[in-house]
Amino acid sequence: MDVVTPAPPTGPLAPRLSPDSHLVVAARDLLARHGSATVDGWCHRCEQAYPCPPAIHAAQVCQAAGLDPADEPPASHDLAA
Ligand SMILES: [Zn+2]
Repeated sequence: MDVVTPAPPTGPLAPRLSPDSHLVVAARDLLARHGSATVDGWCHRCEQAYPCPPAIHAAQVCQAAGLDPADEPPASHDLAA
């Protein structure tokens, strides 16, 4: 039986996502909506502990596309909540 090693999520051998793909654009929009916390440390959007799971996962998608998750999303993509 062959052993299959999954691709690493980060690093030079990680698969790259296109920064213009719908997945990455949606992730940046999601990160913008879940990217701030209250003074108590809760996400403004979903009221989970900050950083909330949606923000963490969206940041990982941005990183897979070679983007800095802290960058602002494109203004032309205003997805509904
Ligand atoms: Zn959130």
